[in-house]
Amino acid sequence: MHQLDDCIFCQIAQGNAPAYKIHEDELTLTFLDIFPATAGHLLIITKEHFTDIFEARPEALARVASNSVLMTKALEKVIAPDGLGIYQFNRACAGQTVFHYHMHLIPQFEGKDIGIHSKQAGDPEQLAAMAEQLKAAIQ
Ligand code: AMP
Ligand code: ZN
Repeated sequence: MHQLDDCIFCQIAQGNAPAYKIHEDELTLTFLDIFPATAGHLLIITKEHFTDIFEARPEALARVASNSVLMTKALEKVIAPDGLGIYQFNRACAGQTVFHYHMHLIPQFEGKDIGIHSKQAGDPEQLAAMAEQLKAAIQ
C-alpha cells in the first residue's frame, strides 16, 4: 500500500501518530478531528495515501462513502444533531489543508453557524470520551 513518511494521516493510518480512533477496516480509518468545528466532528480517511480525489482509487472511496452511513448512525445515537454537513476538499484552492484524501462529517445545529475549520484545538479528555461513545454506538 502506498503511504508516505511525511504525511500526518499516513502516520495515523500506520499507528505511528496518535488519533482518537472510532472505526477501522482494511481500506479506511475514522477518527475525530482534533480541531473540531463542533462535538463529534470526525474524519474518514483512506488508509492508502491518495493526495485527493484526482488520484484516489474508486474502491477505497466507495468504502469511505459506505462508512459515512455507518457513522451517521453512531452520531445520531450519541449527538442527535439537527443536521449533518459532509465536506470533502480537493487541492488548496478548494480549501484542502491536509493533502491526504479525507471526508469530514460535521454535526450541525439549528440556529448555530458552524464553520468547517476551527482554530481551537479540542479538549483531549472530551475528545477521548467522544471517541469512546461513538465507538460503542457503531452497530
Ligand atoms: P481539510 O484538508 O481542509 O479538509 O482539513 C483537514 C482537517 O484535518 C482539519 O479540520 C484539521 O483540524 C484536521 N487535522 C489536522 N491534523 C490532524 C490530526 N493530527 N488529527 C486529527 N485531525 C487533524
Ligand atoms: Zn498520506
